[in-house]
Amino acid sequence: MLSTDQISVLQNILDNEEELIIALAEENNIKSDASIGVAHFLLADVNNFSKMSTHQNFHYENSIKPLIYKVLCDGMLGEHEDGSSSCIGDGFIDEESLLGAYIEQDMRCQHCVQTTDTWHTNNP
Ligand SMILES: [Zn+2]
Repeated sequence: MLSTDQISVLQNILDNEEELIIALAEENNIKSDASIGVAHFLLADVNNFSKMSTHQNFHYENSIKPLIYKVLCDGMLGEHEDGSSSCIGDGFIDEESLLGAYIEQDMRCQHCVQTTDTWHTNNP
């Protein structure tokens, strides 16, 4: 079952950033129009989540879930040179912050956003 936050995020992606789903589908060599179809199916009715076929679930796992579940925070300064994250939270953007992150195009968790804001306030 998708949470209310995940549903809002998915709705926003379909409305404004459909290409995110298409890019994931293409990365995984699966049909992007089918992945988009699954996204619409999930939004049509919350109960559809439990009605997904194996095939639909495959699209969900590959092209949709990575965008709405455990999305990685970009961190305070982006990635470190060794590839580790500079995130000061748990490395993920929480579900409640995710919609805002997509809208602001600022893929950071609330901990990183807050800390950066505080830094700017203290270092004008
Ligand atoms: Zn973070």
